Amino acid sequence: MFNAIICRYNEIAIKGNNRAMFENRLVENIYDLLKTVEDIKVSRVRGRIWVQHPSKRPFADGELDIIKEQLPRAFGIESFSPVIMCGLDIEEICNAVDGSCGRFIQAAMTEKTVPAFRIRATRSNKKFPLISKEIEIRLAKVVAIKYGDDELKVNLKNADVTVGCEVRDEFAFIFYQSFQGPGGLPVGCNSPVLALLSGGIDSPVACYMTMKRGCRVDYITFHSTPYTPQITIDKVKRIAVELNRFQRPGKLHICNLAPIQKLIRDNCNPRNRTVLYRRMMFRIAEKVARKTGCMALVTGESVGQVASQTIVNLNTINDAVTMLVLRPLIGMDKSEGIALAEKIGTFELSKEQVPDSCTVFAPSAPSTAVPLERAKEDEDLLAGYEAVLDEIIQGIEVFTEGK
Ligand code: ATP
Ligand code: MG
Repeated sequence: MFNAIICRYNEIAIKGNNRAMFENRLVENIYDLLKTVEDIKVSRVRGRIWVQHPSKRPFADGELDIIKEQLPRAFGIESFSPVIMCGLDIEEICNAVDGSCGRFIQAAMTEKTVPAFRIRATRSNKKFPLISKEIEIRLAKVVAIKYGDDELKVNLKNADVTVGCEVRDEFAFIFYQSFQGPGGLPVGCNSPVLALLSGGIDSPVACYMTMKRGCRVDYITFHSTPYTPQITIDKVKRIAVELNRFQRPGKLHICNLAPIQKLIRDNCNPRNRTVLYRRMMFRIAEKVARKTGCMALVTGESVGQVASQTIVNLNTINDAVTMLVLRPLIGMDKSEGIALAEKIGTFELSKEQVPDSCTVFAPSAPSTAVPLERAKEDEDLLAGYEAVLDEIIQGIEVFTEGK
């Protein structure tokens, strides 16, 4: 019975001259996310985006299931509702309510003996002959005629079923449910970035948060083969695939850090190793980002979470690159990161126990404060490390989903 989906957005609506760019991007992303629903048209009409079949035929239940699963991944959407489109005629609107309300009221009756309903009408079309209040009264009558007082009551504040009606300039529509979108801005309306993706809990969440602000995310992961087993790398691949459900699939660069880790092991202060590894990861990531058109790096770092994330160490790590580094989790507690990971569907994967990827030769008591000068002194002992980094970069494998 629902023959259109209305998508509402918030933050895009306050954009000025380039609002159309944001809207067009959202339209494209919705097409991508709904590519398994055959023959749909996504269009923007006055501050809303509409999904319909060109013939305006109703969506099948299976199609609605896909839509309800996919649209919560379309960054930019605040909420969406399946609707029944009607002409600008109160009789037609009443008939639409008459034909559709039963399903929702009956569902409410299975939960409560006497459920409550309300009508919420809005009218942006001021030429429509009835004002909102009058529309509500007409529609309430339609519902009341179908059900007796002992079956259904009215409750304007706390209703089990809300019949929504909007009367616009060109058409009117009826809806019963609103589903939450993810908010944010459509992926692709900001520059692409490269995320340092480990198999942990935090970096996938950092990817999600950056996508939410409109950036397409590619990934880079570091391992220490032969010390890292294949299952650890496969786990990161699966996390990337899960994250790609929110965007057109990003590439995963898979990089073996072991040669430089050995050099550090053999030459530098053992307590500084973790920070020195991280500086090398950043250097490699920056080069890959520049080569592939990514404009910033992203990490899952948060102040104070582990030894390498004290302010002193973050400073020392950050100094290794000149590129902007985004740390969307910077002020989050671990529990907040976990809650988000659960919400976006990466937690189950992250918590799988596999051997760590880059902790070989890591000290049992890493330094919580490696001042920049100390790190530089250590690196002075790594004669010709740049050539090793270049070789490592040459050996990067790229995993592209579906290829
Ligand atoms: P995560 O849960 O994301 O692994 P964490 O709290 O375990 O984070 P660290 O392991 O110190 O913290 O890593 C901090 C950040 O450095 C990670 O969020 C990630 O962005 C990056 N990072 C660490 N290890 C790797 C790796 N092997 N490959 C790619 N990035 C990594
Ligand atoms: Mg980690």
